[in-house]
Amino acid sequence: MAQIVAKFGGTSVSDLQRMRDIATTVKSEVEAGNQIVVVVSAMAGITNDLVALAREANPLHDAREYDSIVASGEQVSSGLLSLCLQEAGVSARSWQGWQIPINTDGVHGKARILGIDTEKIIKRLSENQVCVIAGFQGLSPENRITTLGRGGSDTTAVALAAALKADRCDIYTDVDGVYTSDPRIVTSARKLEKITYEEMLEMASLGAKVLQTRSVELAMSHKVPLQVLSSFTGMMGSVLPGTLVVAEEEIVEQEIVSGVTYSRDEAKITLLQVPDRPGVAAAIFGPLSDANVNVDMIVQNISENNNATDLTFTVARGELDKALEVLESCKSELGFLASVPDSSVAKISVVGVGMRSHAGVAKRMFAALAEHNINILVISTSEIKISVLIAEEFTELALRALHSAYGLDKT
Ligand code: ADP
Ligand code: ASP
Ligand code: MG
Repeated sequence: MAQIVAKFGGTSVSDLQRMRDIATTVKSEVEAGNQIVVVVSAMAGITNDLVALAREANPLHDAREYDSIVASGEQVSSGLLSLCLQEAGVSARSWQGWQIPINTDGVHGKARILGIDTEKIIKRLSENQVCVIAGFQGLSPENRITTLGRGGSDTTAVALAAALKADRCDIYTDVDGVYTSDPRIVTSARKLEKITYEEMLEMASLGAKVLQTRSVELAMSHKVPLQVLSSFTGMMGSVLPGTLVVAEEEIVEQEIVSGVTYSRDEAKITLLQVPDRPGVAAAIFGPLSDANVNVDMIVQNISENNNATDLTFTVARGELDKALEVLESCKSELGFLASVPDSSVAKISVVGVGMRSHAGVAKRMFAALAEHNINILVISTSEIKISVLIAEEFTELALRALHSAYGLDKT
């Protein structure tokens, strides 16, 4: 007997027929003696519609009400899938985050799971019932519904698998695995048989939305056996191989670069003529951090006349207005001349654990971009990734050029 947590994303539960297909495969797994926990996203497009409604009702909405609105998509899909399972003759019931409960912190809109009470789920599984769990949602310490950030059903699934110590956590989506780049943009992208937790973590946080970043963090720290599979090409027992996310030592032939990612969720701010004195960076980034604005890439020029310099950094595009407001409020205190925003930028990154032991990775990236006349605005690196900020209009061109430059194209 195996205990399996299977998560189905929005396109995998987009209509009743797809839910009936899932019910049929879940039924055969149950009949084979396995215990199944199903985590569902909202039906495709529903969360976007709910977010738009909340914004239209009040652009500066109360985040607690936002969460109770956007969490409702998963309530519907979990109920519908339970009905489809019952119709197929399988004992099933739906569970909302608050009913389990999945306890989170109180950071509405991007809450973190603090703990899951698995007692009721374990009992139902032992009675051969399928537990259909609404992804993306939890319960705050104030007893309010929270959501885990966009794409958060992945995190619900991995957190449940970790709490239950399940044998597997399978993430079913609309592509059949993790690719060397987004297959919708880079048609020559290759499916990876295996990827390390570390690389997947970087790829997710640098824009590959196939898994939510937090879900990979959890899988890595709890050693959850995780795989990404397609719900469109067969499921569970009959599934075609997807991509396994594994520990580094399980990969024998390590590529230097495993993936190329992009993120359009970027905005650049340049502060002109910032006084060049100790403490100025703390004075700028402190208030931004207090306002919950995450700063990502930073570049500071050397001051020419020794008393003022330009400072450029990036924030998430959705936080640009908030960042500018914060900076404006402390402009006179900081003493910079002006802030220049630019939201038509994109971040392109190459990721691979092989970079640790190979030189020349950055050189190849810069040469490939230069060959295509793509200007680099900001660079940042870590042990296993290099990111560059470029004009957004060159996103696709840069992705394809780098994909070829590192020999990742399928043959
Ligand atoms: P779901 O609704 O099932 O959670 P998502 O839309 O969140 O699905 O994630 C799947 C999508 O991720 C794919 O359709 C694909 O376009 C995108 N994607 C981006 N980068 C990658 C990558 N490197 N490998 C696979 N898919 C990727
Ligand atoms: N429905 C939520 C979203 O669209 C959560 C998820 O799909 O994982 O972001
Ligand atoms: Mg997703």
